Amino acid sequence: MMVDPAQVGVVIVAAGRGTRVGGTLPKQWRSLGRRTVLAQTLRTFRKARAVGRIVLVLHPDDAGMGAGYAAHPDVTVAMGGADRPASVLAGLEALATLDPPQIVLIHDVARPLVDDALIGRVIAALLAPGAADGAAPALAVTDALWTGADSRVTGTRDRAGLYRAQTPQGFRFAAILAAHRVAAATGGDPADDDVAVARAAGLDVAIVAGDERNLKITTESDFAIAEGWLALRASGFGSTAAGADREEAWMDVRCGNGFDVHAFADRPASAVTLCGIAVPHDRALLGHSDADVGLHALTDAIYGALAEGDIGQHFPPSDQRWRGADSALFLEHAMERVVLRGFVVANMDTTLICERPKIGPHVPRMRANLARITAVAPDRISVKATTTERLGFAGRGEGIAAMATVMLVAP
Ligand code: MG
Repeated sequence: MMVDPAQVGVVIVAAGRGTRVGGTLPKQWRSLGRRTVLAQTLRTFRKARAVGRIVLVLHPDDAGMGAGYAAHPDVTVAMGGADRPASVLAGLEALATLDPPQIVLIHDVARPLVDDALIGRVIAALLAPGAADGAAPALAVTDALWTGADSRVTGTRDRAGLYRAQTPQGFRFAAILAAHRVAAATGGDPADDDVAVARAAGLDVAIVAGDERNLKITTESDFAIAEGWLALRASGFGSTAAGADREEAWMDVRCGNGFDVHAFADRPASAVTLCGIAVPHDRALLGHSDADVGLHALTDAIYGALAEGDIGQHFPPSDQRWRGADSALFLEHAMERVVLRGFVVANMDTTLICERPKIGPHVPRMRANLARITAVAPDRISVKATTTERLGFAGRGEGIAAMATVMLVAP
């Protein structure tokens, strides 16, 4: 389905007082999961790729609380009217003064569990060849229907052909705007939903499959049910929107490790470079670059946390550009990737493994140098050293090894 988002707008009606739920706060401002009902609903439409413009209709008393939303470039805030049809019309008129879309979805803020799939079904129904003027989601009634009075059943009704209406209800913009203008001018029923307004104006409306999860929060127990659906969606189970929501619901923490070894050369020297610091030693380390095992292990730990390969892939030893290179360059590149991927470094820990030279006296300068290169606070940077009790290549003084661990967090 090809949709130009610029041609699809949504009016989110959030001007009600929500008196049925109880409490003093209108239901759209109460919390659901980690955000308000309103923010939950708004977020779904802002994330919907098919929707380009959003008008949020608020009660005039809520203008202050809604001020922040007007800061989003894709959101326009309009003030609602005396009843629902008047609020919808205010939202439609706000869209009309912008660049009017071809299609508008009208959605009740109290249905915060609407998802991309349902939004897509409504839009698709409006774009289909020979489509109706409107398309709205609904569920066939499956429960038996009774009439009652004074806690007694007074009769039964045939449920065949009966539907429970949901939102978003979608329409050709010009047609529903005209229908609402006529209803406002002629005094329509304040209880009418947009399908009723559309039908009163002679528009035909197609029924698309609704979703049981797209419940309308009306009573206190609906909050508990909605919390349950949200938690289930966050767990990645049972929702077409699972992937995106799961990413957000879980704090993104990445751990990476790095390990490196460089051998001592047979030629005499005055120092080796470890964590960017010249440490006096009588033998040089062999390597294509400056052979800084500390920086190499640390850089690889960062690439590892990002799952972006290793230092050899980013800076091939076959490339003459990196001959004798300052390894700070590699660490800088890895840090650039951290920032571009939206992470921060929670901490980094590097262990240098050798018998000689003695590392301890140089650790404060190494930590300061790593802080300078990475812009990470020194108290999140650890450098330590160990020997291998004269065992193995490090114990025999054939080279120096380093291992590093890095923790990245997406705030
Ligand atoms: Mg190396």
